[in-house]
Amino acid sequence: MPKITMSSPDLTDAERQAVADVMNTPMLSMGHYVKDFEQAFCDLTGAKHAIAVNSGTAGLHLCVRAAGIGAGDLVITTPFSFVASSNVLLFENAVPLYVDVDPKTGNIDPAQVRDALENTAKYLPRKGANPDSKIKALLPIDVFGQPADMDPLIELAEEYNLAIIEDSCEALGAEYKGRPAGMLGDYGVFAFYPNKQITTGEGGLIVTDNDEHADYMRAMRNQGRAPGDTWLQHTHLGYNYRLDEMSSALGAVQLSRLDEILPKREQVSKWYEERLANVPGVETLHIEENTTRMSWFVYVVRFAPEIDRDALAQKLIANGIPVRPYFAPIHLQPYMIERFGFQRGDYPITEDLGDRSLALPFSGVMKESEVEQVCQTIEKLIK
Ligand SMILES: *Cc1c(COP(=O)(O)O)cnc(C)c1O
Repeated sequence: MPKITMSSPDLTDAERQAVADVMNTPMLSMGHYVKDFEQAFCDLTGAKHAIAVNSGTAGLHLCVRAAGIGAGDLVITTPFSFVASSNVLLFENAVPLYVDVDPKTGNIDPAQVRDALENTAKYLPRKGANPDSKIKALLPIDVFGQPADMDPLIELAEEYNLAIIEDSCEALGAEYKGRPAGMLGDYGVFAFYPNKQITTGEGGLIVTDNDEHADYMRAMRNQGRAPGDTWLQHTHLGYNYRLDEMSSALGAVQLSRLDEILPKREQVSKWYEERLANVPGVETLHIEENTTRMSWFVYVVRFAPEIDRDALAQKLIANGIPVRPYFAPIHLQPYMIERFGFQRGDYPITEDLGDRSLALPFSGVMKESEVEQVCQTIEKLIK
């Protein structure tokens, strides 16, 4: 039997041909493929600007810069995420003002965001933050491909004059009340690592409607070259966050297949859902009514407290089923504890989800028989 993988890209000959086509040109960077990819993204999302970069992390970092978030500034976000969404704040010596998540979805809880805006002192980390600092932005994450509850966040952002950076790195193609994920804040960021809905190998992309900030982020991804600068003129201290042509060509084909790729992932999630419905002690993800389209990124299940998640994970791996705890709370990473003095117990819902959850093998190319094999093994091992 072929080995079951944790994730797998969904590639066809069209992708292979597109990359090969680039290889037959002398332009391996800064050519038309990246522009085509960006244009296709604008057409898809309705965004005014799409800025391709070489990782989701790079995209988030440029948004932090464009939003003017700097040393000491506070940004409201959650510790139930991949580390990158918080790391980009630390890159600029800004401080994450963590609120806990909605236990049903793992997404940011707007009621706690309001409380953090009204009673900021209560939410400050034990160290590493200045109590007089200003809250500059909200950074919600569309966890597992389900959009955060954005309307109350948008209202709060208006009331308190905050920027919204939407981390949609897990949610390409998802919709919130019929609106596309990533388009709900001032900036949205997608990512294209091979386990994401579409891949460019490594890669990411920012969407925004703000002309001035789009120019700035394009300059910052390209060594600080502002519009009008020559090759060795650098208006800003910038980065090399450019996406190359091979990756862009790959991404454009992947994006053109999105309407085929997402339903395949949806089908695999349905097989899991149906098969796991009768397995006691295993809970599948709750989908909110506001999620008018889910874009499945990972398939995460939650085990009842009496099931030893870590022991089960080890047994599954020993039985050829790769699984992964997902997410490991960010505030309990060693460098976060050292910098901000976080302790276990600070964000109990995040910790509980982190303790009881497991990502199962998942991709759009998974077969029903493989889902069956995963579920059978889980069923057998938790008995
Ligand atoms: C994948 C991901 C990112 C970005 O990842 P890169 O590997 O830098 O592309 C950021 N935030 C979340 C929540 C992610 O899942």
